[in-house]
Amino acid sequence: MLHKNSFLCAALTTAFLGAAAVPAQAAVVASIKPLGFIAAAIADGVTPTEVLLPDGASEHDYALRPSDVKRLQSADLVVWVGPEMEAFMQKSVSQLAEQKQVQLAALPGVKPLLMKGDDDDDHGHEGHDHSAENSDEDHHHGEYNMHIWLSPEVARLSAVAIHDKLVELMPQNRAKLDANLQTFELGLANIDKQVGSVLAPLKGKGYFVFHDAYGYFEKHYGLTPLGHFTVNPEIQPGAQRLHDIRTQLVEQKAVCVFAEPQFRPAVINAVARGTNVRSGTLDPLGIEVKLGKDSYMQFLNGLANQYASCLKGE
Ligand SMILES: [Zn+2]
Repeated sequence: MLHKNSFLCAALTTAFLGAAAVPAQAAVVASIKPLGFIAAAIADGVTPTEVLLPDGASEHDYALRPSDVKRLQSADLVVWVGPEMEAFMQKSVSQLAEQKQVQLAALPGVKPLLMKGDDDDDHGHEGHDHSAENSDEDHHHGEYNMHIWLSPEVARLSAVAIHDKLVELMPQNRAKLDANLQTFELGLANIDKQVGSVLAPLKGKGYFVFHDAYGYFEKHYGLTPLGHFTVNPEIQPGAQRLHDIRTQLVEQKAVCVFAEPQFRPAVINAVARGTNVRSGTLDPLGIEVKLGKDSYMQFLNGLANQYASCLKGE
């Protein structure tokens, strides 16, 4: 009898702890931080926003933990780019009801804005790591550049889509959600003007970025990149690519090379050695920015300052 009771007690404890480990309150769950920035602005005061990808992880190479799968299952709404970016979420999201997820790259307003991806990387050159290729290549080399959160236009359309889904799910919160969307759109228009004036004088300054992520931002603000080191940050650039970049640096066509907080490969330093090229850092996931209702604006502003501080050369 004693044995039975203690067994029951242990079972109850386990059940209780198990339940406590999963967040009791459902939330908006965004795949990556910048989408969390947009969602947090719209859901502010209505429901919490959480981000799946931990700081420092790559959007191109992540594996869901069991706790991530649970978070996705219990979410009010899941926000992601789509299977060509977050391939690691595809299986979990496919099990969710349609009204509980928003796939931003598939929105009718976003589709016509998609930019072609650059596919001219260095396959077949020496030093290529084939194990990395097998794990990352399939989902990265889609037809389009999927770093769509770096486009202010796509950000606005994403905010509208998240708003519409939340209104559907929580019609009682319509007034607050409407007000949040309006505030976001105003804030975005303001920061867009501000960033535009910071970056306008930098048109024509050539530079290289580490990975092919910034096309939407660069196109929107008229920046003039010369190229990227690699399409997939998990794959090292090949010898031919490095030689070409080095030649352009020596010929003084570039003033900056940009690394990223997660990726500071020795290869960037090696290629810039002995030239006058400055090095900077771009943070495409906003790991320095805290989640909150103004965080997307802080993110755009931060990125603009990262470009400006290196390109201006002050
Ligand atoms: Zn990327």
